[in-house]
Amino acid sequence: MRRLTKKNHLGSFNLQQEVRDFFSTFPFALIVKNSQLIRCYCYNPMTRSIDTKCKTCLGTGWIPTIEKHRCWHNIALRGESLPHLIKNIDPANVVVDERAFYFLPEASPRIGDYIVVADFGSDGLPSYHTQQFYRVNYADPKVDEKNILTYYKASTENDPIDAEIKSFNLYNMKSSIKIVPVY
Ligand SMILES: [Zn+2]
Repeated sequence: MRRLTKKNHLGSFNLQQEVRDFFSTFPFALIVKNSQLIRCYCYNPMTRSIDTKCKTCLGTGWIPTIEKHRCWHNIALRGESLPHLIKNIDPANVVVDERAFYFLPEASPRIGDYIVVADFGSDGLPSYHTQQFYRVNYADPKVDEKNILTYYKASTENDPIDAEIKSFNLYNMKSSIKIVPVY
């Protein structure tokens, strides 16, 4: 866990609020949380295999929860202001990895979750055929100088396996997406 320090002496609360203000302007991404509580019926314990085309678990092998969070990443966006924020609070880590996704603490991404980049329609739900799936390899909690969790950096890799089918299955699950507001 890397500790963040800010060059000026704003208090911890101010830093938290500044980070929230940044995130409130960012677009949304989905996190398909592989909660590891309830096995999906597609899991075969004999072969330990799952169905990557599964309509229920999107190939995670577990009954997922799907959440919609504000997120910064630089796959689809250019010139957004998170690098500036990182430069202020985490100067050793200015280089922004193009497969990294940044979330507020409540998003709590975990290894094995999917982060889904999508276009969202006027109903706030993901449009069909716009999703890209990234599997979380590592989730790094960043804390401020008072040890308060400030944001997460999730390192990912693109998972192209059956992405078209996953996209269709996710589209059909869109009514179960939980939207998490930034307060
Ligand atoms: Zn399944």
